[in-house]
Amino acid sequence: MKKHIDAQKTFFFSQATKDVSFRINELNRLAKLLKDNEAALSKGILDDFKKSAFENYLTELAVVQQDIKEAKRNIHRWSRRQKVSTNIANFPAKSYIIPEPLGTCLVIGAWNYPYQTSLAPVVAAIAAGNTVILKPSELPSATSSIMAKLINEAFDPRIFKVIEGSVDETTALLNQDFDKIFFTGSTTVGKIVYKAAAEKLIPVTLELGGKSPAIIAEDANLKMTAKRLIWAKFLNSGQTCIAPDYVLIHKSQEQEFLKHAIAEIENAAYAFENDNYVQIINERNFDRLTGMLDASKTHIGGDSNKADRYIAPTMLTNISWDHPSMKEEIFGPILPVLTFSDLDEVITNVRKFPKPLSLYIFTSNSTTKNRMLKELSFGGGAVNEAVMHISNPHLPFGGVGASGIGSYHGKSGFDCFTHYKSIMDKPTWIELPIKFSPYSKTKLTWLRRLFKLQ
Ligand code: NAD
Repeated sequence: MKKHIDAQKTFFFSQATKDVSFRINELNRLAKLLKDNEAALSKGILDDFKKSAFENYLTELAVVQQDIKEAKRNIHRWSRRQKVSTNIANFPAKSYIIPEPLGTCLVIGAWNYPYQTSLAPVVAAIAAGNTVILKPSELPSATSSIMAKLINEAFDPRIFKVIEGSVDETTALLNQDFDKIFFTGSTTVGKIVYKAAAEKLIPVTLELGGKSPAIIAEDANLKMTAKRLIWAKFLNSGQTCIAPDYVLIHKSQEQEFLKHAIAEIENAAYAFENDNYVQIINERNFDRLTGMLDASKTHIGGDSNKADRYIAPTMLTNISWDHPSMKEEIFGPILPVLTFSDLDEVITNVRKFPKPLSLYIFTSNSTTKNRMLKELSFGGGAVNEAVMHISNPHLPFGGVGASGIGSYHGKSGFDCFTHYKSIMDKPTWIELPIKFSPYSKTKLTWLRRLFKLQ
């Protein structure tokens, strides 16, 4: 571990990564590796999740490839020194900002989208000129080992190296001297990472989770709402950090919405053999999720099968705020539906939870939309849509408060692995005497005029 980190640091100091064409080369290497090995990568995800090649492409590889494309398209502009104006007090200087890579970075991935949560931050780190150690989640073991094999064969370990492992290895990595730590995972482990980083004052980005509400107002287009929301919820069997965690619907619309939602679930015909359904990651999560099932509240679904780690798409109704499904992030195919009578109630109740990673508002009324956007704090989200905001690289992606610190994708990804070094650059042909001692009343008068302050 230490040997690899030291080798990366030495390589970083060689200045090779400062060259933009070097970075583009490495991004091309990653893009080619993902393309050439799509079958092997799909096999890994099938073994870990019974997830299809279609979904692997849609939710994993395409996201990473899009980030690579976006970075390559803009990397020259993003890496360029930026001129800024200089205030009169500093005449005759020039001022500029130099985007500088941070150095050797640690990326820790989550299990639910193992390629995306591991490799999208790596793309940003490489684009910004850093070297990277990646520690993928150990839970999907096939995807972790295929990433390690392919990447460690294709890349110079001084630039990009995968180190596999679980808690012990991650703990050991967190004790090393990185220049940046980028973590995706739970809020609980996020705190461990944050503490370890604080000891060494290492900058961190934390991409965490939380309970993301979907609010359906009185005037929502219910058919379209159901179509988009059901897809977003049951994608990856609900094991999506930005999946709608629970529905809050105006009580006058509940029955009509449920009819549309059931139709969507039936139309989708979710099943492993239809290539559109995904296994629960492990028995521990299967047991946790089945513990939230509640036959007396099940509106549709509720079936499960431990041998296959299968839980049917399930909607629960007549749910109160203290139901077990409302006690933690669900992270599985269970959707509790709660009702409200007015928007004040929505705002009060959503604020009782830590700030969510995402929030979705379904409404045709711009006053309702703007009120929710103004009064509720959350990482990011969508209006009359769910989940898809992550696919726009122009939208920074990240949480706020307990759902995360910092954001990435596109330019914001470049920014999170970059230090912007501010420089004042002065010629030597003149120096105004005003700031030098001995001080005098006249100098103070001039100083006041110069600064034009009150
Ligand atoms: P997790 O926190 O259990 O694991 C994440 C990583 O931390 C793994 O690589 C794991 O090996 C490591 N780890 C686990 N325990 C550790 C410990 N004690 N010390 C040091 N490292 C440790 O998270 P997870 O189960 O992989 O992911 C689920 C959570 O991640 C959910 O809350 C979800 O919302 C969140 N998530 C967030 C995003 C996002 O982009 N914001 C994306 C995916 C998942």
